[in-house]
Amino acid sequence: MHRRTLLKGGATLAASTLVLSSDASARLSAAQPGDETFMKLALTEAAEAAFPFGAVIVKNGQVLARGHNRTGIDHDPTAHGEMVAIRAFLAAHGPEALKGTTLYTSGEPCCMCMGAIIWCGISRLVFAASVTQITTKLDQIAISSEEVANKALFSPIEITGGVMADDAMRLFK
Ligand SMILES: [Zn+2]
Repeated sequence: MHRRTLLKGGATLAASTLVLSSDASARLSAAQPGDETFMKLALTEAAEAAFPFGAVIVKNGQVLARGHNRTGIDHDPTAHGEMVAIRAFLAAHGPEALKGTTLYTSGEPCCMCMGAIIWCGISRLVFAASVTQITTKLDQIAISSEEVANKALFSPIEITGGVMADDAMRLFK
């Protein structure tokens, strides 16, 4: 009985998600000149990690922070590439400077990282491999960054996906 209630609740939630998505508040935007240059740096970071995920945070054409997955090294399941880059940024520049930044990441952020990206007020997200692609290689929470953004309408973040996705996928052995 309880299980049935849960399933019913889940179905209702999924239906409302679909309605929100079709309202298309997610600010999906096309790739811009320079995106590949910075994505290559994120992929270089990813290549250094046991789990091949890397990120860089850029503002006005300058790389202000970088990071790659450190979950194993740090014994910290939250040390995803994006979280490591955000923490490095905060340590070096403080939270006010996050406004106007673009975060480049080799893999579409999971819902934890996307939540952090939104709370940080990062202006633009560019990712390579999608959550759907990553799920074919390893465990991932199957919620897209767009879905998270669509639930946080206070955030004006723009999202560009699929930049050098094939290169990112090749990092998964
Ligand atoms: Zn993550």
